[in-house]
Amino acid sequence: MADASAAKSSEVVVRYDEAARVVRDHAEKVRKRPRPVERVALAETGGRVLAKAVRADRDQPPFPRAMRDGFACRAADLPAAPLRVTGQLRAGEAWAGGAIGQGEAVEIMTGAPVPEGADCVVMVEHVNVADGRMCLVETRVPVPGENVVPAGAEAKAGDLIVPAGRRLGVTEIAAAAACGAAEVEVWTRPRVAILSTGDELVDVSEMPLAHQIRNSNSHSLAEQVRAAGGEPVISPVVRDDGAATERAIAEAAECDLILLAGGVSMGKFDFVEQALTALRAEFFFTGAKIQPGKPVVFGKLPRTYFFGLPGNPISTMVTFALFAAPLLRGLGGEDDTWPRFVLARVEEEVRVKSGLTRFLPARLESDVRGARVRPIAWQGSGDLAAAARANAFVVVPETMDTLAAGTIASVLLL
Ligand code: AMP
Ligand code: MG
Repeated sequence: MADASAAKSSEVVVRYDEAARVVRDHAEKVRKRPRPVERVALAETGGRVLAKAVRADRDQPPFPRAMRDGFACRAADLPAAPLRVTGQLRAGEAWAGGAIGQGEAVEIMTGAPVPEGADCVVMVEHVNVADGRMCLVETRVPVPGENVVPAGAEAKAGDLIVPAGRRLGVTEIAAAAACGAAEVEVWTRPRVAILSTGDELVDVSEMPLAHQIRNSNSHSLAEQVRAAGGEPVISPVVRDDGAATERAIAEAAECDLILLAGGVSMGKFDFVEQALTALRAEFFFTGAKIQPGKPVVFGKLPRTYFFGLPGNPISTMVTFALFAAPLLRGLGGEDDTWPRFVLARVEEEVRVKSGLTRFLPARLESDVRGARVRPIAWQGSGDLAAAARANAFVVVPETMDTLAAGTIASVLLL
């Protein structure tokens, strides 16, 4: 079998910030490409990226909305209360009693349209009603506008509510529903080829021999691809052979993005870069000063972007989250492609050698006071048992060798 080490002549190893910038530039570029559109029922749009902006189809709220259960009246009349209660109005009911006059009040429920003439709603908790007359029990007199959202205060008909490029989540779906968007236009999901390489790999359904390893990367990558808005296309495992690797990559090039896992290190049977070169790849970087994930490769075939992700499973997931996810989200047309980091208080000291940006498996917990992060003991980037105990990666900047307990650190979310 041919030796793959000849392909390692033109390495471009960059710092984390530089690698992130290169990916961001490409993500920004591809985000603006035209792409096919699908119409999807609103209930099916969670996680999809909006292709056509949703606009308000009428003023929101469409009428002055009572924000509390209570009594609609004129604030100026209240110091001279009691007021005469002339009727009752619930949400979903149209008021037919005409404008509210001086000295009058209407009992009103949350969500009902405040009748003309009234300018405030006094909360039911703040009044006494007897014999059809209402008076204040609070000493503070409500001001005009209190507990009323004026018509059109949230949005005017035609206003932009959810822009194209926004990933649809809870808030966007609720707002789109309020605009009558029973169906919305979303962009089709980018198709992402997942190619795991390695002679040692067997499928999860097979019983491995003593020297074999189950293929976990195809599964973790498929999950990460879905979470980043892509459609995973899992290829059969690629054997450590130059010609087989080249054939598999050439076939995968009809997808929108190729993810190769494994075969990018300095080993004699790491054929990925050589196969990519034979297929006229352009390389943007062939390594990053990070750990785990140093051998990560990013580039483009004549029409398809690719990442060569190191095969050690924790390296694979970290490099996907740092680099492949932003590009994929750009390919999906999303306006926000950046990985998610949060700040958290370090619960236990972390010590490493400086010189690489580290992303160490960690457990992030949070409550209303903020987030805390605890590093997880691990045996290196192949340790999936440790990965299963982690839910995030604590960042040690390349210039630092210690994160002291009690300090605040950045944490990469998966
Ligand atoms: P490589 O990047 O090909 O040198 O692989 C590095 C390490 O990751 C080796 O121990 C491999 O056995 C392991 N590995 C590579 N690919 C996978 C995979 N798809 N699933 C689980 N482990 C893998
Ligand atoms: Mg390998």
